[in-house]
Amino acid sequence: MKTVTGILALLALVSCKDTPQAQDEDLTLNEEVHWTYTGENGPEHWAELEKRSHCAGELQSPVNIIDYHTQEDPDLLPLDLHYYGEVRIHEVTNNGHSIQYNFEPGDYISLGDVRYDLKQIHFHEAAEHTLNGIRYPLEMHMVHVNAQNEIAVFAIMAMEGEPSEPFTFLENYLPVDPGETKIIDECFDLNLNLPQNRDYYTYRGSLTTPPCTEGVRWIVFKEPITVSLQQVKELQRLMPLNNYRGEQPLNGRVVKVYESPYN
Ligand SMILES: [Zn+2]
Repeated sequence: MKTVTGILALLALVSCKDTPQAQDEDLTLNEEVHWTYTGENGPEHWAELEKRSHCAGELQSPVNIIDYHTQEDPDLLPLDLHYYGEVRIHEVTNNGHSIQYNFEPGDYISLGDVRYDLKQIHFHEAAEHTLNGIRYPLEMHMVHVNAQNEIAVFAIMAMEGEPSEPFTFLENYLPVDPGETKIIDECFDLNLNLPQNRDYYTYRGSLTTPPCTEGVRWIVFKEPITVSLQQVKELQRLMPLNNYRGEQPLNGRVVKVYESPYN
């Protein structure tokens, strides 16, 4: 039996086609609470809607990152990414708050010695984090979770310009209506969606949607990727208008910055 498992694992490594179907481990990031981005159930009421949430906490996200207030930290390391082209996107879902692509297991990052598995990516339009006061048209979140259920999110800004090929691939599976899920079951190389420059900001914050869970490690890439206006609009028309949470106070937190000496 061990041998069979070993062979299966080997097949999964060499050929995307033979990747065993993974169970979808749903993160409990999308609660059944009827929160919204505007009106009576908008962000200023999230804490009342979910009494046990962290939405009224002191260490919330997103924040405005101002270079002048960031701090270089010699202990920060280059990002240790393990994204493989053989890993499959399981499905795309419209959860009524965002368009979300759920991944099968395989892609992960290492922070220190700790492995965080990539679970899903989703989008906010416009961006949630602002960089030196600038709000980009789109922000992609790549959600990773470790064995202790601690969360690390990559935030990647997108600016308008040349169309992005990986976005074209992802958007091939749209539209998905609110509440709808479509199976994708295709390989996707997440590296293609990253900026070339891997310099980043990092700070401790929260999920930006209820229950606004704190303790999230944020890694915000300094360099944006480029997508076309049409690619932004394709996502925009399927998501609630302005599905971003406003700036939260830092409350004494200092955003650290990693800059590669080799740029
Ligand atoms: Zn998000």
